[in-house]
Amino acid sequence: MSDLLSANLQCITGQTDTHLVDVQQHRLHYAIIDDFLSLQTAAKQAGFRLTIASSFRDFNRQQIIWDNKFSGLRPVLDINQRVIDITRLSDFEKCNAIMRYSALPGASRHHLGTDLDVFDSSAVSNDYQLQLTPDEYQHGGPFAPLSDWLDKNLTKYGFYRPYKLDLGGVAPELWHISHIKQSQLMLKSLTQTDLLRCIEQSHVLGKHEIIANLTQIYSRYVTNVSPP
Ligand SMILES: [Zn+2]
Repeated sequence: MSDLLSANLQCITGQTDTHLVDVQQHRLHYAIIDDFLSLQTAAKQAGFRLTIASSFRDFNRQQIIWDNKFSGLRPVLDINQRVIDITRLSDFEKCNAIMRYSALPGASRHHLGTDLDVFDSSAVSNDYQLQLTPDEYQHGGPFAPLSDWLDKNLTKYGFYRPYKLDLGGVAPELWHISHIKQSQLMLKSLTQTDLLRCIEQSHVLGKHEIIANLTQIYSRYVTNVSPP
């Protein structure tokens, strides 16, 4: 499917991995490694073991997540972490419900290699089952101290949280951090027309509804992020 997309667009939409390097059993964009290691060292000095839970995810992996949610094989949650009965929703309502927590394939920031989900592995036991849910990062949760530290220190090291605030698109994800300069550089190349071409060439479930509503999807879920 990617033959018709430029090399740059393949990179942004998760269809190539040539810009990635291995770090701590994860893959990150080569241009963010130094800044990430500086952030991690500073966190360590403040008493945290800032650990990567998730980083690069390619188009195919994101499509599996998307398709499984769209078809009901994997639960779709509401803002209160309750399972939504998606059989009652129209196809476009399903897409909206999914996009609160999972990006449209081709538009996931995890395609970039500049975005990662992090936690403090020193705050929990080795067998702790990481959920990546708001209560883990809010007051009283095991990662609340790290979250407070990130609030004050992320931008010093060139990172921010694009899903810090609820702007009506993607739900807040305090565990998700992004390299400001490199992610902005890449995402400014992803126009709505580029995303349309990417979806047209794919076989994602709900493709027809996605294409019909792409203007709304693009402005509500792709460009609608919290500022650095
Ligand atoms: Zn994430």
